[in-house]
Amino acid sequence: GRGNMSRQRLLGARLPTQTQENEMTDIKDRVDQWLRDAHAMEEQAETMLNGQAMRIENYPTLKARIEQHLEETKRQRARLEACIERRGASSSGIKDMAMKFTAMMQNLSGVFAGDEVVKGVLASYTFEHMEIASYRILVAAAEADGDMETARVCEEICAEEEAMAAWLEENMGEIAIQHLVRQEASLEEAKR
Ligand code: MG
Ligand code: FE
Repeated sequence: GRGNMSRQRLLGARLPTQTQENEMTDIKDRVDQWLRDAHAMEEQAETMLNGQAMRIENYPTLKARIEQHLEETKRQRARLEACIERRGASSSGIKDMAMKFTAMMQNLSGVFAGDEVVKGVLASYTFEHMEIASYRILVAAAEADGDMETARVCEEICAEEEAMAAWLEENMGEIAIQHLVRQEASLEEAKR
C-alpha cells in the first residue's frame, strides 16, 4: 500500500552510502568514548575500594571480599587500557575523565558517621550496578562495532561486577545486623 511505499522511500533516503560510513565512524568514536568512561569509572572504584579496605577493622569477611575486588578492579583497568590501545584510540583523555564520578561517590561515601561500614556497602552495591549497566552497554556497542575482543573483555569484567554485587546482596543484611549488635554493645559498655 501507500504507507509501505513511503516507508521504503524514507528508509532509502536515510541510508545512502555516505551516511552509512559516517554512522560507522560515529559507532567507533562512541565505543572509544564509552571505554574511556569505563576506565574513569574503574579508577574511581579503585579509590573507593582502597579507602574502604583500609578503614574496615571489625568485618574481616567484608574486608577480604573488598580486597579481592580491589585486585580485580586493577586488572579491569589494565584490560580496558589494552582495549583502548588496540583500537588505536587516543588514551590522552583517560586522565581527564578520572574526576567524573568523584562528586557522586563523595555524596555516597564522603561523610562517615558511626554507620560507615553499612553506608560503604550501600555505596558499593550502587556502584557495582552502574558498572554492570556500563559493561552490558559496552558489550552490545563493541559487537555493533565489530570489535569482538573488546566485547569479550567487557563480558568477563561484567561477570566480576555481577559476582561482587551478588556477594553484597547476600551479605548486606548480616553486615547491618553485626553493626547494630556492635553499636548496642558499645552503648551498654558506655552506661557501665
Ligand atoms: Mg569494576
Ligand atoms: Fe566493580
